[in-house]
Amino acid sequence: METAPLIDPFARPITYLRVSVTDRCDFRCTYCMAEHMQFLPKRDLLTLEELDRLCSGFIGLGVKKLRITGGEPLVRKNILSFFRAMSRHLDSGALTELTLTTNGSQLARFASELAACGVKRVNVSLDTLVPEKFAEITRWGRLAQVLEGIDAATAAGLKVKINTVALKGFNEDELIPLTRWCADQGHDLTFIEVMPMGEMGEENRLDQYWPLSDVRARLGESYALTDLPDSTGGPARYIRLNETGQRIGFITPLTHNFCESCNRVRVTCTGELFMCLGQEDKADLRAPLRASTEDDGLITAIRAAIARKPKGHDFDYSRQRVAGQMSRHMSHTGG
Ligand code: SAM
Ligand code: SF4
Repeated sequence: METAPLIDPFARPITYLRVSVTDRCDFRCTYCMAEHMQFLPKRDLLTLEELDRLCSGFIGLGVKKLRITGGEPLVRKNILSFFRAMSRHLDSGALTELTLTTNGSQLARFASELAACGVKRVNVSLDTLVPEKFAEITRWGRLAQVLEGIDAATAAGLKVKINTVALKGFNEDELIPLTRWCADQGHDLTFIEVMPMGEMGEENRLDQYWPLSDVRARLGESYALTDLPDSTGGPARYIRLNETGQRIGFITPLTHNFCESCNRVRVTCTGELFMCLGQEDKADLRAPLRASTEDDGLITAIRAAIARKPKGHDFDYSRQRVAGQMSRHMSHTGG
């Protein structure tokens, strides 16, 4: 089979794949899901075997970094067997990084096994260190369980990065406490700008919008900041806090600045390949996976999709309406 690496029409090599392995979650974060989410029928989800074929197909085409996400990836039944299967690509050297984004609720159970599968780093989403506020924002989550999970991850030798969604009127007052806590624990910290995803129904997303330029300015009142040139090919920008030496990231998916170096694509739990987080165009990879046990059709579909990867995306908050609002939920594309 032909194995030329994936290069899109703008000469960007596609080396990073994010895969959502489930739309289900044990939390109901208010900015991500409605409380009574209608989940997909199980038959629509890719099986673990199909996920293996799909990820292995991409790895054969030059993907070096694989991030597993969800929903909550660690609530997918037998997900450890999938991580074990993927570790063969780390052993062969085809894959350089296998990682996941998790809410941390199941890490106490799984951290050491994940480490044994070759996972070195994990992103844990955590928006507040106040138990009552944690219960409010996640609806169903318990802070103590997540903190236990984070400790287990650290004890297993995993490097933890905390992802915090910046929410106006919610965690503004915790900017410095959260930053200090991460410094004390040795965790990197990244702030994420809230995005207009799906139909949440109850609250207007713009009410929670807290631009990261403000977050940065507020950090600058307490610390001396140095801009870092680091780039991961995604929409994250980094600074260093001179006093603590901490690296702080800012993910502003709504800005277009980084599209030219975009190296990534996303696959939903139903096998839809999204070439750009901010565009609706997608390709169905489940049909070729189910049409044959051979992977030729899958590889052809991946190549055809990458040939349509757009130059950039279309979000815009500036007109005070949510232009380019996405009709899909983050829990399907995995953020
Ligand atoms: N359940 C896992 C978790 O929470 O980390 C993985 C999936 S979650 C969809 C991935 C990331 O997307 C999390 O860091 C979450 O905070 C973020 N996220 C969800 N909805 C968002 C939104 N509307 N705007 C910005 N980030 C969002
Ligand atoms: Fe679940 Fe993650 Fe969405 Fe929260 S952000 S509801 S933990 S998928």
